[in-house]
Amino acid sequence: MKLNDKNEIIKTSIGLMKIPSTKDNEKARKDVIAFVKKYFSKEDVFIKEFKENGIYSIVVNLKNEKNPKLFLNGHLDVVPDKKDGFSPKILGSKLYGRGSGDMKGGVAVMMKVLKDLANKKDRPSVGLMLTTDEEVGGKNGVAFLLREKKYISKFVIVPDGGKNLSEIILNQKGILHLKIKAHGISAHGSRPWLGENAITELIKYYNEIQKTIPPIKNKEWRNSLNLGNIIGGKNINSVPNYAEMCLDIRYIKINERAKILDKIKKITNSNFEIVNEGFPFTQIKNNIFLKKYVNIASKEIGNKIIFNKSEGASDARFFSEKGIPAIITKINCANIHADNEWIDINEMEIFYNILHKFIKDLNI
Ligand SMILES: [Zn+2]
Repeated sequence: MKLNDKNEIIKTSIGLMKIPSTKDNEKARKDVIAFVKKYFSKEDVFIKEFKENGIYSIVVNLKNEKNPKLFLNGHLDVVPDKKDGFSPKILGSKLYGRGSGDMKGGVAVMMKVLKDLANKKDRPSVGLMLTTDEEVGGKNGVAFLLREKKYISKFVIVPDGGKNLSEIILNQKGILHLKIKAHGISAHGSRPWLGENAITELIKYYNEIQKTIPPIKNKEWRNSLNLGNIIGGKNINSVPNYAEMCLDIRYIKINERAKILDKIKKITNSNFEIVNEGFPFTQIKNNIFLKKYVNIASKEIGNKIIFNKSEGASDARFFSEKGIPAIITKINCANIHADNEWIDINEMEIFYNILHKFIKDLNI
């Protein structure tokens, strides 16, 4: 990689990172997409912008098509941080700041790769899809683009999961966010027999649900349950007639979804709604694109690739839902969603080289 190219990638990363594109900052999320558009303004590429329920996205294609063979996918929204989290700094071979590892550094690499390819004589069939709602579920970003706008590809790379480039994630859990409601009859607290207590009813539901999804320990790979929020009751001396709770259920296989919902339906007499959900991500190891990628990546890294599972979700699940094979990996980074987030500049360079070699090898 030429020094100029490396400097351009770092400059782009810093430019993206200075924009505080959090879920509460619609202007910044708009600005971060405008930054990408400007980056490609002098290139002969095909740009489509979208806004769905206040969520901005951009798709940049090398050919005028909706179905490039390969999509490079990333998100440009970040979780909140202190003010200086949005003032990126370089220390040694690390770039520090909010969004460096998750995942503006990775996006900057993919932007540069696409720009390079745009200047080639024989352009491959590659597109870049960038959205701004991964941290809040991806519904109006990748899900919208694939389900409603019918974008499709043969393969996708999502550098948004795992520890570093030596790791590829083959499984991510599915998500079911449920709101469960209990109704009762109010009465004076001194005569509880005249009422029906909605809160105790809700607790009964929870205990029953927990029997089907027992508490999970570290390193266990199975369904998990978290009671994240509970509301109910007004006064100490009233029998509450309404209560609700929100459950965050993570499940390992798609066929578990119906089983879980079926049980909860029975336990709660159907008094629940799905607030948000995402299917699990699964990728088979012997996919031809994956094998090619692994071959090139392991040579570039000088290390064997490790396959792993991850509890966390990513937008790759929406590609998985459409049957599109996906590589989930990550440029070496740390402290994601925490203080002092950083990305390893050397691995940014390696990822750049991998992508170029992989795309060349695909001959698409
Ligand atoms: Zn991310």
